[in-house]
Parts: sequence; C-alpha cells; structure tokens
Amino acid sequence: MSKGTLYIVSAPSGAGKTSLVAKLLEVRSDLALSVSHTTRPPRPGEQDGVHYHFTDAETFLAMIEDGAFLEHARVFDNYYGTSRAAVQAQLDAGKDVILEIDWQGAQQVRRLMPGCQSIFIVPPSPETLEARLRGRGQDSDEVIERRLGEAVKEIEHHVEYDYLVVNDDFDTALGELQSIFQANRLRLRPQLERHRRLLENLLASGGRKA
Ligand code: GDP
Ligand code: ADP
Ligand code: 5GP
Repeated sequence: MSKGTLYIVSAPSGAGKTSLVAKLLEVRSDLALSVSHTTRPPRPGEQDGVHYHFTDAETFLAMIEDGAFLEHARVFDNYYGTSRAAVQAQLDAGKDVILEIDWQGAQQVRRLMPGCQSIFIVPPSPETLEARLRGRGQDSDEVIERRLGEAVKEIEHHVEYDYLVVNDDFDTALGELQSIFQANRLRLRPQLERHRRLLENLLASGGRKA
C-alpha cells in the first residue's frame, strides 16, 4: 500500500498558518490534519478533538512517559504534542498528513521521519504580524505580547525548512501552498504506485498503434 507523506507547517504565531491549512483542507480531501494535544486553555470557539485535544498537564506528562508522542515541546509556557498512533494510522492509510507544529517539534520529526517535507510561513512585515495577532482578538494583551516576543526566535529557524511561503495576499499564499503539495504528489515514486498498470501497458505495447 502506498504510504502518505508527512508535512510540517511552522510559522510565528499570527502568521496565518492555521487559516491557510484550514482552507487547504477544504479543497484537498486527500490531506489530513494532525490534531495536537495541548495544555493551553481553549480559545473561544475552539472545540476539543477538533482544534486540539485539550489536556491537563498531569495527563500530558503521563503520555510523554508512555511514549505516546511522536514529538512534543513546551511553547509559550504550555505543552504541545503530536500523537504518534494517530499520525501513523493516517500515513499507513495512504493519506498525506499535516503537522502544525513549532520549530522544536519540527527538528524532532525530521530526525524520526527523514522523508517528511517542511514548510515555513512568514508574514509580510513585523507590523502585519502584530496587526493579525491583535485582529484575531482571541488572546489577552499579555499573551499577545508574549507571542510577539517569541516570534523572532521561531523565525530564526526558517533556514531548516524545505519551503518558504510569504503570507501577504491570502489567496496567493494558498496557491503557493497548493503547488507544494501538488508537486510532491507528482514525484516519481508515488506516481509509479498510482500508475503501475498504465506504465505496464505502455511498456508492453511495443510501439503498436491503437
Ligand atoms: P497559533 O499558532 O497562534 O494559532 O497558536 P497555537 O496555540 O495554536 O500554537 C502555539 C505553538 O505551538 C505554535 O508554535 C505551534 O506551532 C505549536 N504547536 C501546536 N501544536 C503543536 C504540537 O503538536 N507539537 C509541537 N511541538 N508544537 C505545536
Ligand atoms: P496562526 O495559526 O499562524 O497563529 P491564524 O491562521 O490564526 O495564524 O491567523 C492570524 C490572523 O490573521 C487571523 O485572524 C486570520 O484571519 C488573519 N490572516 C491570516 N492570513 C491573512 C492574510 N493573508 N491577510 C489578512 N489576514 C490574514
Ligand atoms: P496556539 O496556542 O496559538 O494554538 O499555538 C501556538 C503555537 O504552538 C503554534 O505556533 C503552533 O505551531 C504550536 N503548536 C501547536 N501544536 C503543536 C504540537 O503538537 N507540537 C508542537 N511542537 N507545536 C505545536
């Protein structure tokens, strides 16, 4: 069975990765999003099991002990982690899986899954990043200041990624993201799996006319 590709998407908080990935999932049914576990409290409108598995610290630490996470990291004073079993099940089913994780998690996943592809998203300016974080209107001033303070640390890791997308105009950035996924699907190995019969037919035809 063909195995799916694992994609990592990282960005400073407020750059637009969640909005872009959500839109991408609407238009591509062959993509699955990994729902992370986190100890941060839900924002208004966030649903358990949809945006995150909201978990207390005690449970999270027990899951680390059990080896339940493919990767985990402490980000903005909260724990975030990716379920190993959930990701593996989707990859084995042939789905491409997206992880929206920070640079620390990305480093861990690259070591464990060398075939993964990673994408870094940046805003068009520092002012835009701040405006988007404030405009989202879901975090307190204190949390926003903290996230802005940490943005440069995240951005410093851009060189570790395979692709870089500037999220200025939303639809342009979405199109660029789609191109990355499309090009990867057209790589020789997965295409050989999908089109084995066609290639066998073409090779067996011996140049005969139809
Ligand atoms: P947002 O990115 O501003 O929407 O804020 P979030 O609270 O959703 O995410 C906070 C940080 O945690 C971001 O840097 C994410 O990339 C990171 N993050 C989210 N889920 C995971 C995860 O499962 N593992 C790791 N390592 N980081 C995560
Ligand atoms: P992240 O997941 O990276 O923290 P979000 O997807 O939550 O970022 O986006 C932060 C805010 O910026 C949201 O209010 C979102 O609607 C807005 N946003 C995202 N991309 C764009 C864009 N290209 N132009 C204008 N606003 C955007
Ligand atoms: P937020 O709290 O705004 O939802 O997410 C903040 C940051 O946490 C984001 O930059 C996001 O990439 C990161 N994050 C979310 N889930 C995970 C995860 O499972 N693992 C890691 N390493 N980072 C995560």
